[in-house]
Amino acid sequence: MSNMFKLDGQTAVVTGANTGLGQAIAVALAQAGADIVAAGRSAADDTRALVESAGRRFLFVEADLSSTAPVQHVIDAALNFQGRLDILVNNAGIIRRADALDVTEEDWDAVLDTNLKTLFFLSQAAAGHMARQGAGKIINIASLLSFQGGIRVPAYAASKSAVAGLTHALANEWAAKGINVNAIAPGYFETNNTQALRDDAQRSEAILARIPAGRWGSPADLAGAAVFLASRASDYVHGIVLPVDGGWLAR
Ligand code: NAD
Repeated sequence: MSNMFKLDGQTAVVTGANTGLGQAIAVALAQAGADIVAAGRSAADDTRALVESAGRRFLFVEADLSSTAPVQHVIDAALNFQGRLDILVNNAGIIRRADALDVTEEDWDAVLDTNLKTLFFLSQAAAGHMARQGAGKIINIASLLSFQGGIRVPAYAASKSAVAGLTHALANEWAAKGINVNAIAPGYFETNNTQALRDDAQRSEAILARIPAGRWGSPADLAGAAVFLASRASDYVHGIVLPVDGGWLAR
């Protein structure tokens, strides 16, 4: 049974793997056996050390994913690394906080371009290869704001709701090609993304009070869901948006 979760010999691209959830996902996939290609703006030396100490190979590809310009380069670099691409984790994302009345066009475009447009075109480029291979796993990092509106983050909520819709749409098209497209919706996790919330004592307390598990998520809490959706164990799972949220949505 445990073999179903093994990723030996596979290559995974993880975007934004230098920190936070992306780092935890990259390390979890490496511990399950995958070699890791980390694509992002910032060097990922800590992640490299963790992946290599799990006995896996690591490649960093510098890529500013605020536009689609580096998409083909990322996929080509991944293919040149080990000659294969089995898993794509679309994790890189940004959040900009403002009242809806004050959101600028620049902030709107930045959030939608990074969180949605690049995610789509990276998936498209990866799927071209996965379809020829007859197998592949694409995991999008969605959010509770794929289901809810949130507070003062309208562009982010729009982008993450669209990520859920896109996950369904791509699963419909690509399931028959052997590609599983699914998403993880993390709840409230302790990362840079939520620093502003955790610095606000009132918001932080209100959020914690609503989480049935009674604690914020720590990045390693995503490991199980990521390995499941990357592995053979999820071969008949298509188009789901899996909350990993300490029970927030059940409330
Ligand atoms: P984070 O801010 O620590 O990490 C974001 C990652 O995305 C970083 O590696 C960053 O370098 C990368 N990134 C951002 N813009 C980029 C760009 N233009 N080019 C390349 N890389 C870029 O926060 P995190 O919480 O680890 O976020 C990871 C993902 O999880 C995001 O998509 C975020 O929306 C999502 N998420 C986080 C939470 C949470 O509670 N922390 C909840 C739901 C969803």
